[in-house]
Order: sequence, then structure tokens, then C-alpha cells
Amino acid sequence: MPFKESDIAQFSTVFGRSLLPEVENFVRPKMLVVTMEDLWPLFRDHLPADAMPYMVRSTDRATLEADLATLTSVASIVGLGGGQASDAAKYFAWRLNLPLFQFPTSLSVDAVFGHRAAVRDEGVVRYVGWAVPETVYIDLDIIESAPRVLNIGGVGDVFCFITGVMDWRHAEARGKCEPRWPYDESLAAISLAKAEAVLAELDEIKTLSPRGIRIMVDALKWGGASYHGAGWNPRHIEGVEHYIFYALEAGTMKAFLHGQAVCLGLILGAMMHGQRLDELLGAVTHLGIDIRPAAMDVAWSDVFDAMRGLKAFVEREGLAYGIANDFDVTEGFLVTARDRIESAYSA
Ligand SMILES: [Zn+2]
Repeated sequence: MPFKESDIAQFSTVFGRSLLPEVENFVRPKMLVVTMEDLWPLFRDHLPADAMPYMVRSTDRATLEADLATLTSVASIVGLGGGQASDAAKYFAWRLNLPLFQFPTSLSVDAVFGHRAAVRDEGVVRYVGWAVPETVYIDLDIIESAPRVLNIGGVGDVFCFITGVMDWRHAEARGKCEPRWPYDESLAAISLAKAEAVLAELDEIKTLSPRGIRIMVDALKWGGASYHGAGWNPRHIEGVEHYIFYALEAGTMKAFLHGQAVCLGLILGAMMHGQRLDELLGAVTHLGIDIRPAAMDVAWSDVFDAMRGLKAFVEREGLAYGIANDFDVTEGFLVTARDRIESAYSA
């Protein structure tokens, strides 16, 4: 049976303005607002005086577990932030069995639209838990006030559908698809259509018009929902671009802006596949996303190290089979990649 988008349950999502100040009228009192240190001062005046902030310091699972003990009087959870805040909010809602209301403060990642929380277990990302928010509120006033680099970076979690599907097809062509995730054209087609919708409206995305925001949200929702809806299958939504980012992160131990690093992985991944490079690099630069290592406070040598070790990393982490398993990362490839990316920004 082919997959249809309408068969895959997505979270209730509401668009509007001035939505956060309504929280005091419908979220059960004694709410825990799971947010970040830098965001709380911006939004505390929109929340009831007795709302309790929880500042996310880390999504390390042991830290979150330890903090659970301090949350005994909480009656509801509001997630207010980007990926880390939504993941921590999901984790607490799951462990405490409390109603969850999500307010993403930017479109930086798809975390808010997925059931499981990304937490670190001894440094390695694991997706655990089960949290269905009552609703995800896209407060346009909040989104429009977020730093551009965060909002626009969200395309990383959409364009990754393209390289994800390339990887899935690569595995299929070599008879290397995991038995539980056989290649499915209907699923791949929906992902690709979502990515194409964003590619077709780059100027709406770039200016973050309400229409651009809706197109982005529609694609991010698909990423979040279809992981579960396809039977915990990530094949149609991510691949080598995320693996490159994870390898870079593991090698440098630095914190990255998710979308920026994923877009670097996207371009390197497209180059490895030998597909759609000009188009994707053109889109990334058009949107003003700087994927040069210097913009992420790392060096090309860090990126080269991550690429040289990519195959070993993917095998060690048990990641899905794709181009990283078969591609010979030569010094020539690395130099070409560096020059291609650097020249795209000097034009
Ligand atoms: Zn991602």
C-alpha cells in the first residue's frame, strides 16, 4: 500500500499572533515553562506571574532525569524555545505525564513536530519518549522576532529530505536497505515534494513572509510526523547530511547551529552523490546561510577530519546505509569541496 500524507497523523498546529499571552487562560496553572536563559527575559511578561521557568542547560538524559525530582508541583508544561527547549519539554511531559503546549520561538529545527525527544546518552543522540502536544502554536509575532539565521536555518531540516532520499536510493540500488526499511517510492515522493515546495518559494522563505513560514512549517511537520508515521523510519527524511554534522560535532565537541551545520552536510552530501549540487548550493547561498567552517567557528581541517572518518563513524554508530559507506573520500575531493564552497561566497 502506498503511503498517503493524509494517513500520517500530524500534530495540531495553530497559526496566529499574540498567542503566548493567551497561555494564562487555557494552560493549567502551576505550569513549567521549559525555555532557555536568553529567551526567558524576552517572554516572561507574556506569561502568568506564577509560571515557573526551567532553563535548559543541557539535553543530557542523566541531567534531565536528575531535574525531574525538583518538578513535583508542576501541573502542565509549556515548551518555549528551539530544539533543545522543545526536546526537554517533551521529555518532562513524557516522564511526568503532563499536558504539553509547544511554542517554538523559531523555525530552526523540526523537533517540535516529532513525538520523541532528542537527548544525549553519554554524548550520543538518542530519540526517546512519547509526547503529543495539545497543540503547537506558531505565534507569528514570536517567529518574526527570532534571529534570521535561526529561522532560515530551518531549511536544513527540509533539504535533508533530498539527500536522505538519495541515500535511500543508493542503498536500494546496492541491495543494502535495512530489512525493516525497504525503499518506498511513495514515502520518498512526499518528502521530495515538500522539499521542492520550499525550493520553489525561496524568496518567500528568505523574507519570512507568512506564506513562507507556512511552507516551512508544512515541511517541518512532515519531517517530525512521518518518522513515526512510517514506523520509526528515518530513511525518507535524513541521511548523509546529518551524519556529516554528527561526525563534525563528535570530532570538535563544539556546539553548532543545527541548520547551518546540516546545510554544510547537505552540500557535501550532494557532492558525494554527484547530484543537484549547483541547485542546492545556489539555494543555500541565496538564502544567506553561511556554511563556511569559519562561520561555525571551526576550520576546514575539522571538516576534512570529519569527512575522512565519516565511513568509520557511520559504521560505528550503526547509522543507515548510504553514500558514506561507499564513497572514497580522497584529498582531491576535499580540496575541490572546499574551493567550491568558498568560491560560492566570494562571488
Ligand atoms: Zn535535523
